[in-house]
Amino acid sequence: MKQKSISILGGGIAGLATAIALNRTGFSATVYEASAELRPVGAGLGLGANAMMAFEQLGIKTEISRRGRQLPSFTIYDQSGRKIMKTDHAALSKGSNDRNFSIHRADLHECLLHHLKSGQLVLGKRLKHASLDKDPLCLTFEDGTQVNTDFLIVADGIHSFIRKELLPDAITRYAGYTCWRAVIDNNELQLEESSETWGKNGRFGIVPLANNKIYWFACLNRPRQDAEAAQYEISDLHKFFRNYHQPIPQIIAQTRQEHLIWNDIIDLKPIERFAFKCVLLIGDAAHATTPNMGQGACQAIEDAVTLGQCLADATTIETAFADFEKKRLKRTAWITNTSWNIGRMAQLENPFLISVRNAIFRLTPPSLNAKQLAKLNQVDFKTTG
Ligand SMILES: Cc1cc2nc3c(=O)[nH]c(=O)nc-3n(C[C@H](O)[C@H](O)[C@H](O)COP(=O)(O)OP(=O)(O)OC[C@H]3O[C@@H](n4cnc5c(N)ncnc54)[C@H](O)[C@@H]3O)c2cc1C
Repeated sequence: MKQKSISILGGGIAGLATAIALNRTGFSATVYEASAELRPVGAGLGLGANAMMAFEQLGIKTEISRRGRQLPSFTIYDQSGRKIMKTDHAALSKGSNDRNFSIHRADLHECLLHHLKSGQLVLGKRLKHASLDKDPLCLTFEDGTQVNTDFLIVADGIHSFIRKELLPDAITRYAGYTCWRAVIDNNELQLEESSETWGKNGRFGIVPLANNKIYWFACLNRPRQDAEAAQYEISDLHKFFRNYHQPIPQIIAQTRQEHLIWNDIIDLKPIERFAFKCVLLIGDAAHATTPNMGQGACQAIEDAVTLGQCLADATTIETAFADFEKKRLKRTAWITNTSWNIGRMAQLENPFLISVRNAIFRLTPPSLNAKQLAKLNQVDFKTTG
């Protein structure tokens, strides 16, 4: 295939991982990122076994494992600390090394950046206008510069500029709950597993990270962009969760106000197209999901590997984009919809419904949970569909 120019819009997890996947397939793409500098961002991330398999394909699994922390299990508790359901990743992986990990977002970004070629990432390039009907395509950035490109991979996140042009009717949905996150230093608690606690005031998640750190998140049902929630401080969150089992109140109390990150939880209602001839949507721009399965970034990394594979197999880049769409639409829609439904169950507030839910979860045979996980974890980057 004759080398044509490929640009990637957005230097988040999807954009950077895709640049690495393309390099490995013998293609080269330039990444244009709006931010003028890449600062350490965000809190923690869960990386499912599927993402670890994708990292292996990218040749960076060992590095990611070294910076991350392996999570042997995930348990859901009720407010008083009684177990509702446990997923034993170690047992389910049946000896495979593709286990679940956690990592600090800043570490993941640093690792991805390290594998780009010099000059491959161009910062301070916020797209202002795209002429998508021209050949080559023409990108105009806010700093007044222009770039002509034969192909464009769009990885500019859930509020994607290009997706809004191509699919103006695509819907971003507010899930009904809003989320606080933080990472704390921890020298006291001996935590091995990740967990969520589903109580009537809201949900609290705990994820141990490498280097004695803990990533936590708290989700409360509130209206979208609630003015009162926007003002909440650590002391307010402590009030909502003070009757929850330990170490939840202790973890909140140990958090510094300046480390708190606040976001409403939104997703993108599954769309029916990712490929538009010379333009391809990937990552959150194509299939943003609620974080209830911890799969948004994992799917972005799967996208990168699948696209690399499609490019290696196809005779034209346009065909590769179309093949990618065929392989990715169904799986990403399944994850978005399943995650949406998990969120609705996790955020119940009515005490009667909560007790019914907990009873059903406790009675669910582990084999059903294992089946769901197998579907998530058994990725074939050639035939995923
Ligand atoms: C609370 C929360 C918890 C989460 N937890 C997990 C988890 O545990 N595991 C997991 O796998 N996922 C998780 N996710 C999801 C994950 O964060 C996202 O799916 C992932 O970051 C998407 O990556 P992306 O590169 O597609 O988009 P983004 O990370 O949004 O990156 C888009 C990039 O494009 C740039 N950009 C935007 N507009 C322009 C423009 N006009 N011009 C140029 N550049 C532009 C942005 O600056 C940005 O760098 C979570 C999400 C949330 C909100």
